[in-house]
Amino acid sequence: MDIWMTWCRRVAKCQHCEESMRAGEYMVKGKMWINKGVKLRFTKTYYWHPECWVAQGKAKMDRDGYHSRRSLPLSEEHMRARKLLTVRWAVAKQRLGKAIDKGDWSAIMRISEAMRRIREEIAEVGGIPKKWLWQS
Ligand SMILES: [Zn+2]
Repeated sequence: MDIWMTWCRRVAKCQHCEESMRAGEYMVKGKMWINKGVKLRFTKTYYWHPECWVAQGKAKMDRDGYHSRRSLPLSEEHMRARKLLTVRWAVAKQRLGKAIDKGDWSAIMRISEAMRRIREEIAEVGGIPKKWLWQS
């Protein structure tokens, strides 16, 4: 939807409070577009009082709540621990690949166990990276 602010040029009904706006008032206009083949055409136009636009926007944000990008900020210590574990994981994964190639089952078991522990440790310092979940 395209949203912009403009002068109301004729009587229009506010989407939020359903009261009408008269020509010469400020208004927020929204246009919904749909793609019809190669031609872009709009289907519906919406109007709001600027105050109503802000009010409904704030209400929606309040409903959704504020989320920071990371819900639990990691301490510097945890970041360092994660980095080390990531390196240990990469090394173990490489060794595991070699052990599998050689068919060295005792090494496979030992490395798998080490990787299980690394996973447990990283879970304690900010969670298991998503991509680790797809690897054994
Ligand atoms: Zn309104």
